[in-house]
Amino acid sequence: MSQKSIWIGTNWKMNKGPAAAIADARALAFFRPPEGVRCFLAPPATSLRDVGAVLQDSPLMVGAQNMYWEENGAWTGEISAPMIAECGASIVVLGHSERRLHFGETDWTVNLKVRAALRHGLRPLICIGDTLDEYEFGVSQETLARQTKIALHGVSQEDLERVLVVYEPVWAIGAAGRPAEPAFVSQIHTTLRGVVQGIVGQGSSVRIPLLYGGSVSRGNIRDYVALPDVDGVLIGRAGWDPADFMDLVESVR
Ligand code: PEP
Repeated sequence: MSQKSIWIGTNWKMNKGPAAAIADARALAFFRPPEGVRCFLAPPATSLRDVGAVLQDSPLMVGAQNMYWEENGAWTGEISAPMIAECGASIVVLGHSERRLHFGETDWTVNLKVRAALRHGLRPLICIGDTLDEYEFGVSQETLARQTKIALHGVSQEDLERVLVVYEPVWAIGAAGRPAEPAFVSQIHTTLRGVVQGIVGQGSSVRIPLLYGGSVSRGNIRDYVALPDVDGVLIGRAGWDPADFMDLVESVR
């Protein structure tokens, strides 16, 4: 297996209130990922501060699952980038397909959120993904290029160094999903590498990490991270149990 740097994160989605989240964060607090593997957890907002506190001396990073682009004000129900940072988070997942599908997020709102996250020192993890229709009509690449270009519109060269992108086919996510074939992910990531290289500039040494997500499991994680243009994975269900998460992380080296 190559020794490139690998990102592995788990999105807890709307699971684990503070008590369960603290217990799981404690189970992970002394875990040391293998060299070159950077790990993060994305708990729900109500557990962010507690998980941030438990993991403050751990190499595991903490991420939020969403945020609003304004700093404060009359935006009932929303949380902002400075609030997330104050909880100890350094990453924020933006534009997850569940948010695009159920909460009306668009490429435009994702761009506003990406720029706000960067203004406040967070690392945005931008989720992009093709629907089953787009996949079957053979227009996945076009959708992904559009989502990526709009998400990164107006981001400075310096800020691009803190961006992460994860390709999550909508048809591969969750219990009803099926994992994308590694050969297909490889093709998509090679095209995406070209898209992001066009954004950072051909001569630039900035390498935006490109992750894959969607039904990643113990049985397939190594196939994905072995691909030359895949820099890690975002895991849902298979990573929710701390012992399983540590096992998945250990398995890639
Ligand atoms: C996700 O929703 O981001 C995800 C990767 O889910 P799962 O691994 O459960 O398909």
